[in-house]
Amino acid sequence: MPDAAYQARHFINGVFVDSADGQKLDRVSPSHGIVVSQAALGSETETQAAIKAARAAFDDGRWSSLAAKERAAVLYRVADLIEQNEERLAVMETLESGKPISQSRGECGGAADLWRYAASLARTAHGDSHNTLGADILGVVVKEPIGVVSIITPWNFPFWILSQKLPFALAAGCTCVVKPSEMTPSTTSMLGEILVEAGLPAGVCNIVLGLGTPVGSLMTTHDDVDMVTFTGSTAVGKMITKSSGETLKKVALELGGKNPQVIFPDADLENAADAVTFGVYFNVGQCCNSSSRIIVHEDIADAFVERVVALSRKVVFGNPMHPDTQVGAIVTEDHKAKIDGYIKDAISAGAEICIGGQVLDVPGLGDQFYQPTVVRGVTPDMAIAREEVFGPVLTVLTFKTFDQAVALANDSTYGLSAGVWSENVHTCLEFCRRAQAGTVWTNTWMDGFPELAFGGMKQSGQGREIGRYGFEEFLEVKSLVMRIGRTRAPWVKTD
Ligand code: NDP
Repeated sequence: MPDAAYQARHFINGVFVDSADGQKLDRVSPSHGIVVSQAALGSETETQAAIKAARAAFDDGRWSSLAAKERAAVLYRVADLIEQNEERLAVMETLESGKPISQSRGECGGAADLWRYAASLARTAHGDSHNTLGADILGVVVKEPIGVVSIITPWNFPFWILSQKLPFALAAGCTCVVKPSEMTPSTTSMLGEILVEAGLPAGVCNIVLGLGTPVGSLMTTHDDVDMVTFTGSTAVGKMITKSSGETLKKVALELGGKNPQVIFPDADLENAADAVTFGVYFNVGQCCNSSSRIIVHEDIADAFVERVVALSRKVVFGNPMHPDTQVGAIVTEDHKAKIDGYIKDAISAGAEICIGGQVLDVPGLGDQFYQPTVVRGVTPDMAIAREEVFGPVLTVLTFKTFDQAVALANDSTYGLSAGVWSENVHTCLEFCRRAQAGTVWTNTWMDGFPELAFGGMKQSGQGREIGRYGFEEFLEVKSLVMRIGRTRAPWVKTD
């Protein structure tokens, strides 16, 4: 446990600063109930200054004009420094978010690989040449960085999601303004310290701490911002699409999900039950990729649910600072009440609680925790089966035929991810083809790699992040048309 609350400050034009009006916001740890950080509370003043710095840094080419190998060298140094700072980052991530320390170590240390992968892509940006347009014409399509990018991140994976966006934008040659959630600002601020040590030129990445309004909203409407990349709720994603439309910014959105796993009777049921348990309780279900609903064949439903319930009893919920803990605290009291509200509404609508369904009291730490919960007797129209509960809550639906399973899986406004469990390759392949989701897992759940694009269909978002496709989002396409020799025929008749 750190001796004192971490002081998170804005990082603007290479300098760490407090807010001009001196305002700060305390972050009380969701698990330990003590103030673990104090963050500068930004206003329009700091946001304007950060955007101005990013614009100037882009326009004078101090970053975008560097050879890609020089940009890559900085990103590789950042990756090394992230690894060296893993423990410090992980402790703060856990104290601010409530997630288990083992998970924070995996996410903060593991983020170094995203930085290295993005660095490797920096040198691959290239366009096309067209040498067949006629003897006197050469056409070249070049890729350029899009410009100033606003990066807005949520509280559930603060360091990881930042690392899914920032190194790819920097690799492309963009400059950035970053706003983390006010609930989890510190590891983003710590990254600022790492960027200085790694030698990133001043103004290339700026960090403003504060609330969605005024900081986030100005970042999505300002004339000098060219692109917004946002991860968070679908409601705020829609607001950003509207507000940024006035200046026609490019917008990439990674939003919510109501992700199904479909279990066929011929599946490896032991493995499937474990993956379902992992999928729903990981990060206390506060995860866009949470597999919050399963669609299981009716012949095996009873036995399968029993298996998941039995595994649920074995998952270690509790003190996030303990190395064996697998599931920690809920991010805020309000959010816990929201989760509990979904459960109460489902019970009133006739659903049956197989396990959990209540607040969890952890001795010595209080009750900002929620029990592992499995809900049956759910119909597809219930809110608990349709909306993002964002808690450790699994809903169970059943099917008879393959077509029914696909229809239930796709019966959602969301389309982030989906999973299929079967030993029959034809069943798996057909499901993969018909599932309306940005990622489809086959006989696994939430395996991810920096090489593979991530993002959603339908109201789960637009655009992709990570992978080559994620990198390309930060590049603009320009066509060059070059005439060889003086062959252009005049348009105006002069004789
Ligand atoms: P939000 O979508 O409200 O917040 C995400 C980020 O957007 C935060 O940094 C937030 O700032 C910022 N923001 C809020 N309003 C604006 C705005 N008008 N313009 C620009 N930026 C803005 O998520 P919440 O944290 O409130 O969570 C609410 C629900 O969203 C959750 O219960 C969950 O269902 C879903 N969610 C989904 C996530 C995902 O990974 N897909 C991640 C997080 C939440 P600040 O909060 O600091 O004011």
